[in-house]
Amino acid sequence: MTEVIYRVDPKGLEKPEPPNDASEARDRLLDGNRRFIELFEKQQIVHVSPEAVGICPDGGTLPQRPFAAILGCADARVPIELLFRCPSNALFVVRVAGNVAGDECVGSLEYAVANLAETLRVIVVLGHSGCGAVIAAVDSYLNPQSYPSTSAPLRSIIDRILPAVRLADNALAEAHGGRTAKGPAGRQALIETSVKMNAALTAASIHSVLSFPVQYGVFDLLSHKIELAEPPVNPEAMLSLAAEVAASDPIRQILDTTRAFWS
Ligand SMILES: [Zn+2]
Repeated sequence: MTEVIYRVDPKGLEKPEPPNDASEARDRLLDGNRRFIELFEKQQIVHVSPEAVGICPDGGTLPQRPFAAILGCADARVPIELLFRCPSNALFVVRVAGNVAGDECVGSLEYAVANLAETLRVIVVLGHSGCGAVIAAVDSYLNPQSYPSTSAPLRSIIDRILPAVRLADNALAEAHGGRTAKGPAGRQALIETSVKMNAALTAASIHSVLSFPVQYGVFDLLSHKIELAEPPVNPEAMLSLAAEVAASDPIRQILDTTRAFWS
């Protein structure tokens, strides 16, 4: 058993200065994720300042000072501030199923870029393994006959994920032979490849609209680990990324172990 004690302490976590640039902002997020994973490993007393939990010492309100804006999934297992181990007022968080870039979400990010420029250094699109919205899009792709019975609001989410599913399916077919997505193993590999490509495509489209530094990544529900990268800047680079993900060890492992389990 590990134990974590949060102790509000006026002398706790200092209010950090914003990072100098997007690269430093990414490093701060990754460092936070490393310290989040440490919470599972040993007993810790985490000293946090009143400001870190949203309490202004003089009883007033603090101005917004986020150093990163995150577009993440609404999934209850992906608490953004916690998994980057960030205090109150460090992240501008937009959450929607499938971390899709609908108008309201992109508008929220545009607001942050326009109004919080003093501290904001990077936008991150964060997908996660086992994403229910991506699973719905994959199942709609594999069984299009179910599409008409899907409600219009849900379709608006699925429609935004389908390009990533198509990209992932093509890449998997190229890497592992045609019609890979048939059967449970192929479906699982298609889901996880689509999760990553959905984050990359969404990040690239946000970058093209907002002209602001953007990173993308995937939160692994099992290891709690996040990796971040810049999204591909052109269609060829996007295809290369899809090929790389489809041929990667984690996807091969899914294909091998799930096939073995079901055969
Ligand atoms: Zn999700």
